[in-house]
Amino acid sequence: MSNIYDIAIIGAGPAGMTAGLYACRARMKVLLLERMACGGQILVTDRIENFPGFPEGISGPELADWIFKQASHFGLETRTADAKKIILSKGRGEPFYIKLSEGEDVTALSLIIATGARWNELNVPGEKELTGRGVSYCATCDGPLFRGKDVVVVGGGDTALEDALFLTKFANKVTIIHRRDRFRATKILQDRVAANKKIELCLNSVAVEITGKAKCESVKIKDVTGGAVKDLRADGVFVFIGMKPNSENFKEIIRVDEKGYIITDDDMQTSAEGIFACGDVRRKLLRQVVTATGDGATAAFNAEHYVERLRGAEYK
Ligand code: NAP
Repeated sequence: MSNIYDIAIIGAGPAGMTAGLYACRARMKVLLLERMACGGQILVTDRIENFPGFPEGISGPELADWIFKQASHFGLETRTADAKKIILSKGRGEPFYIKLSEGEDVTALSLIIATGARWNELNVPGEKELTGRGVSYCATCDGPLFRGKDVVVVGGGDTALEDALFLTKFANKVTIIHRRDRFRATKILQDRVAANKKIELCLNSVAVEITGKAKCESVKIKDVTGGAVKDLRADGVFVFIGMKPNSENFKEIIRVDEKGYIITDDDMQTSAEGIFACGDVRRKLLRQVVTATGDGATAAFNAEHYVERLRGAEYK
C-alpha cells in the first residue's frame, strides 16, 4: 500500500495548497500535483486587498509563497505534472488512478480537484494574431511594457476594473470598453475608476476587431445601442471578460454544469464518491482567494473522513 496516497490533489492554487495544508495536518499521505508553478491565478495578481489579515493588502505572489511555505512546513509533497485523466476506482476501497501526461500513474484513495479557471478570449479578428504583440490577458505580467502608451481594457468585472487601475501606473491613458452601461465589479473599484483621471469609459460598446501589422495599433469598437463602429488607437488591449473552468479532463466522470463548472455539495463532494472539488473550478457564486481557501479546507476535511471511513478508523 505504500505507493498509494490517501489523498491526491490536482492543482496548486490557493484552494489546492490549503487542501494540502489541512490534509497534511490530519497526518494523511498527500500528493499535490501542479502542471505549472504553485500559486495559481494569484501569481499574476498585483495586490490582494480582501484576504483577511493584511490591512494594507499583500501581493499575489507573496501570498502564494506564504501559503506554499506553510503547507510545505507540514510536509506537503508536491510534484510538477499534468493530470490528463482520472480512472475511477473499481469499487469502494479501491484506489483511483490519475494518468499523467508523462505516462505515469498516481494512485490514491481519494482525490481533490482544484484546477481553477482560465481567461476567456474575445474571439474577434486580430486577437490571436496580436497576442503577445499588444494583446494581453495579464496586466501584472505585461503592464510595465506600456509605459506612456494608450491601452484598452475590455470587460466590466472585478478583474477588468482592478487591472485597469493597475495599468494607470504605467499607461498614459486606459480606456475601459464594456458591453453594458453598468459594471459588475464591486463598488469600491467602481469609485476608484470614476476618480482616476487616466481612465476613460466606453460603455454599451464591444470590441469587434483588433488591428495592427507587427503590433497592435487600434481597436474597432461597436456601439451596441446604435450599431456605429469607430476606431480607437491603442498600443495594447487587455482582455478581462471572465473565466472558464479547467475541468475538461474530468467532465466525463463527474457532473459539471452547462459552463463546465464542477457541481459539488456543501462538503465539496462531487457526483463521484471519493472525488472532491474546490476553488474556482467548482460551481459557486463567489470566486475569491478567501472562498477558495475555505473550499480547500472543507474538501480536505471531508476527503480525510472519507479515507478514514474506508479504513474503519473514523472518529465518531
Ligand atoms: P466576471 O466577474 O465574470 O466579469 C466578466 C466581465 O466581462 C463582465 O463585466 C461581463 O459583462 C464581461 N464579458 C463577458 N463576456 C464578454 C464578451 N464576450 N464580450 C465583452 N464583455 C464580456 O469575471 P472577472 O472579472 O474575471 O472575475 C472572475 C471572478 O474572480 C469573479 O468572481 C470576481 O469577483 C473574482 N475576482 C475578484 C477580485 C477581488 O476580489 N479583488 C479580483 C478579480 C477577480 P457583463 O457584466 O455584461 O456580463
